[in-house]
Amino acid sequence: MPSFLLRPMRSFAGSDDRAERAHEPLVASLYSQPGTMVIGTVTTVGATWAAARVADTDWLWIAFAVVAIVGAGRLALTVLLRRESAYFEPETREFAYKVGAFAFALVLGLTSGGAVWFDADSGVELLLVANAIGYGIGVSARNAGRPSIAIGQLALVCVPTALAGLLVGDLVHVVLAINLILLIAAMISIARSIFGVLRDALASAETSRTLAERMQHLARTDVVTGLSNRAGLNNGLVETMATLDPDTCLALFWIDLDRFKDVNDLHGHPAGDKVLAEIAGRLRGLAPRPATLARFAGDEFIVVAPVADRAAAERLASEIHCEIMRPQRVNDERLELRASLGVAMLPDHGTDADTLMRAADLALYHAKVGGRSQTRFFERQMTRDLARRREIETELRSALQRDELSIFFQPIVDLETARIRSFEALVRWFHPEKGELLPDEFIPIAEESGVIVTLGNWITMQAARVAATWPDDITVAVNLSPMQIRAPGAALGIRNALREAGLDPRRLELEVTEALFLEDNPTTAAFIEELTEIGVRFALDDFGTGYSSLGSINSFPLSKIKVDRSFVSGAKVGRKSDAIIRAVAEMGSTLGMGVVAEGLETVEQVNAVRAAGCNLGQGYYFSRAVPDYLATMLLAQEREAQLRQAND
Ligand code: C2E
Ligand code: CA
Ligand code: CA
Repeated sequence: MPSFLLRPMRSFAGSDDRAERAHEPLVASLYSQPGTMVIGTVTTVGATWAAARVADTDWLWIAFAVVAIVGAGRLALTVLLRRESAYFEPETREFAYKVGAFAFALVLGLTSGGAVWFDADSGVELLLVANAIGYGIGVSARNAGRPSIAIGQLALVCVPTALAGLLVGDLVHVVLAINLILLIAAMISIARSIFGVLRDALASAETSRTLAERMQHLARTDVVTGLSNRAGLNNGLVETMATLDPDTCLALFWIDLDRFKDVNDLHGHPAGDKVLAEIAGRLRGLAPRPATLARFAGDEFIVVAPVADRAAAERLASEIHCEIMRPQRVNDERLELRASLGVAMLPDHGTDADTLMRAADLALYHAKVGGRSQTRFFERQMTRDLARRREIETELRSALQRDELSIFFQPIVDLETARIRSFEALVRWFHPEKGELLPDEFIPIAEESGVIVTLGNWITMQAARVAATWPDDITVAVNLSPMQIRAPGAALGIRNALREAGLDPRRLELEVTEALFLEDNPTTAAFIEELTEIGVRFALDDFGTGYSSLGSINSFPLSKIKVDRSFVSGAKVGRKSDAIIRAVAEMGSTLGMGVVAEGLETVEQVNAVRAAGCNLGQGYYFSRAVPDYLATMLLAQEREAQLRQAND
């Protein structure tokens, strides 16, 4: 058993502490059976009345009056303190009970002692003495929960009679006195032992209760961050939902730290745990109360918080991003994390916890697929998208075997000579029912599901085989997903493809994106180095769409930069895009790299990028991506035209 579970047990070992723990329920026991107190009061007042009635002496009538008044006052006080127990401290209630109990016991004791002392009628004496002793024994059992009260009452009720008996001095009364004193002694020991049993029983019940509470707390808490875990979240969500105002708006944020695995790999798990705890603290600081916060498997957090409306949820989402991105120190290194967020709102996206969670999960999935470090709110469309994604994912696995995939080739043209310098291999999927599926749709799914590794190797192989049939000066470009590169044996897969196809490694170019260089991953560096050594070249694809740090370009051996088509024909086109193309082209020519303008569709665009300094172009203006035999034909036509030109 973990040591922290033992702590409460040990603290119960001292009997003082045990008594203290049991104090409150024991005080409550004084007030617990009002019926017995009523019986005690009625019988003793009744007995005193009967004695006064029989003896008809002044002092007994006075005694009766006092007993009746004290008894009634005490009953009233008890009823009051019992009903309003919440307003009084246990100490106050104990003191009030003590005063009433002692006063009543004293008047009963004095009445009984008086009967002995004043040599009353033997019947009266018997009634009053029996009344006092009976009461004393009864209460000392009843009030054993507070031994000082029980024994005090017994003593107050018996001692006056015993003293009177000793003073009267005859044999009967002396024996009575001795018996009473022995009775007190015996009752002290009995009351104490009852008290011990009561106290221990109450204390251990208390211990079990605290232990049970602690176990439940542990079962619902994540040890690393102190937030709720999955069980705690379910519980908290159900509770929140049950007590929710019908018009409250609630937002559920599902937060996934981007590439947290790298933090663990680079800095070790203890550091990773610290980072998670730090993030948990920041989330706790910013979530509006009453919020439910939880950590899910690994690096996922959930925040459920009341919000005024969608705009408030959006603000909270950006605050979450800011807090997570705020740099932190890990092993003396500055660490900047990012996160993807999926958000679902109650009641718009669901009215029960399950539906909300599913909606947020789906939204998160879209945030991740859409390039991470962003927030996505749930949309109905997402459910349909997911169904299609699932279908594509399963069908993609069999598509390879069923020959539904093929490789098309799009020429990359020299803008000076208008001659084809290479072809980019682009995968095509002709689905028997769905028709042609676009790589923009199924490549991300292949990446998500891991199929991209097999698929990528197959594509490289096919492309290399076709390229081996082209003239030696024509190269082939193959797109590479980051995940393919990170897979074990990635470089070997490409070398094997080259060897089997019989293609010179210098004729293969791999197109990679900037995201790859940002990761600063040793596997990536080793991959690039190994292939660069045998002559394979690398091109930077989609330049301008990502983080665009020219610094990262410099530190890798790149042979080409491909300026994204959004700079040529998209919304970004203008003076600024022109300036960027010029800058890249200049840097390219300084470093001896080719600069390719993508997506050229018109002659104006071709002229513009050529004027800006690009030396290569690709796009529908020259040709779409075509099947291998058409690519070969394009090359043949070009050669023929050249020959004709040479002959003319
Ligand atoms: P990408 O690498 O930027 O490929 C260029 C895309 O632009 C191709 O789309 C191509 O058909 C299209 N394109 C070429 N010229 C023009 C033009 O003048 N105008 C317009 N509007 N588009 C033009 P595609 O084939 O649909 O591929 C889309 C993306 O899918 C590719 O972008 C690439 O990221 C990925 N992809 C395609 N094939 C593969 C592959 O074999 N492996 C991997 N890993 N990714 C691939
Ligand atoms: Ca490409
Ligand atoms: Ca591209």
